[in-house]
Amino acid sequence: MTDNVRVRFAPSPTGPLHMGGVRTALFNYLFAKKYNGTFVLRIEDTDQTRYVANAEQYIIDSLEWCNIPFDEGPGKNEKFGPYRQSERKELYKQYADLLIEKGWAYYAFDTAEELDAHRKNHEENGKTFIYNWHNREKLQNSLALSEEEVTSKIAAGDKYVVRFKTPQDETLIMQDEIRGTIKIDTNTLDDKVLFKSDGMPTYHLANIVDDHLMEISHVIRGEEWLPSLPLHMLLYKAFGWDAPKFAHLPLILKPVGKGKLSKRDGDKLGFPVFPLEYTNEESGDVSRGYKEDGYFNDAFINMLAFLGWNPGTEQEIFSLEELVKTFDLARVSKSGAKFSPDKTKWFNQQYLQLKTDKELTDLYLPILEEKGINSDVDYTKKVVSLIKERAVFVADFWDLSSFFFENPTEYDAKAAKKQWKETTGALMTELTEVISNIEDFSIENAQTEIKGWITSKEIGFGKVMQPLRLSLVGKLAGPDLFEIMTMIGKETTLQRIKNAIEKLS
Ligand code: GLU
Repeated sequence: MTDNVRVRFAPSPTGPLHMGGVRTALFNYLFAKKYNGTFVLRIEDTDQTRYVANAEQYIIDSLEWCNIPFDEGPGKNEKFGPYRQSERKELYKQYADLLIEKGWAYYAFDTAEELDAHRKNHEENGKTFIYNWHNREKLQNSLALSEEEVTSKIAAGDKYVVRFKTPQDETLIMQDEIRGTIKIDTNTLDDKVLFKSDGMPTYHLANIVDDHLMEISHVIRGEEWLPSLPLHMLLYKAFGWDAPKFAHLPLILKPVGKGKLSKRDGDKLGFPVFPLEYTNEESGDVSRGYKEDGYFNDAFINMLAFLGWNPGTEQEIFSLEELVKTFDLARVSKSGAKFSPDKTKWFNQQYLQLKTDKELTDLYLPILEEKGINSDVDYTKKVVSLIKERAVFVADFWDLSSFFFENPTEYDAKAAKKQWKETTGALMTELTEVISNIEDFSIENAQTEIKGWITSKEIGFGKVMQPLRLSLVGKLAGPDLFEIMTMIGKETTLQRIKNAIEKLS
């Protein structure tokens, strides 16, 4: 059953790939890798009116960044190529013809205006116009017209489409790997267009023909395609082909309110909905991306995996390899998955803690360089080890650690008011003397000397330590003070205390 697994991700290049699309790609990837199968990328670009030139490259770059590259697709292992439907367009006509020959499809000459008139008419009577068994013989098509009429219309160059002849009075019983058995009465279906008057197939025809020719074993796609399943099953039957197995993934829902997650939710609540930043070439509009916002690709993928799937255990952190091992379509839920921007940050924070100090240092050094700070690698590594716990993004490092690299120029006003009393200046001057006298400025020595001095003065620790923190950091935050002091060194420590006395006393 899971021999020779071949799955495909089949996006339409109509714009940047939404994170829901990445989730679909990811589940296909995980399923393929789990069964040593093949993950195919097929570009479904038959709708020329919605084609966007930079979208295909964006899709490929996104898969690369997420570390889930395709095995077969445009420009790669083109065994079943081409993988762009626009480059396969000559192929589809014969399949439309074949269905006509078999009596599963027919020519329809109804013009757009005629169909519009029917729709309007129905609307006025509170009905919806459906083109199917109940009216097809009263409309302009090869089922209603005589053979001569049809031949002469075609010869005269009249525009036509090819429609599927949906069978009447049948109950279709279908299986979905996630949803189980689905039944549908074929009388509720319409005769969908398979082939358009512009000589291009519709999504339905091209999709089925290609899945068949590319030997796709499992179709894993978003729930929005579930309504197309009956037609797709009927098409397989009409062609006499074995259908692949189907799995329709649950929708990704808005963090607040009801409905499908949209780009507008992201704009409103301040999170990206795209993996990579995207520039709309026409409008120049730039949409944020997870990558540019500072998310790690493995954290992003881990988060996405949990949108609609769970391992059935408490474990939440999964490497890509672990996901491949653990992933199971049977554990994908039927109900929609609520997206949480906070949980996404949580994943990033977890992944940040899992990175080595060396990795994080390599990411931090260029940021420091940009600020004109040429920091020693080992020093930076030490800084990173002290502050990373509080960071969600590498970009948070600077706020958490700037005082390791430069003297504070401002002091938190509220804290200063509270902690810097009239007597503080004199106390801090005394402290500078204590510090000056520490010969070997190690953590232990500094701690013993300073704490000893405070104890001998019979004052609370806070009276010294808080103003000292304010002097060194500029605010009441940061790691252990003795760590900070010994990192920045005795001279800088003294200088900062002096600066603070000048400014705050
Ligand atoms: N081209 C469709 C899309 O844009 C593919 C749907 C499917 O996977 O069958 O999502």
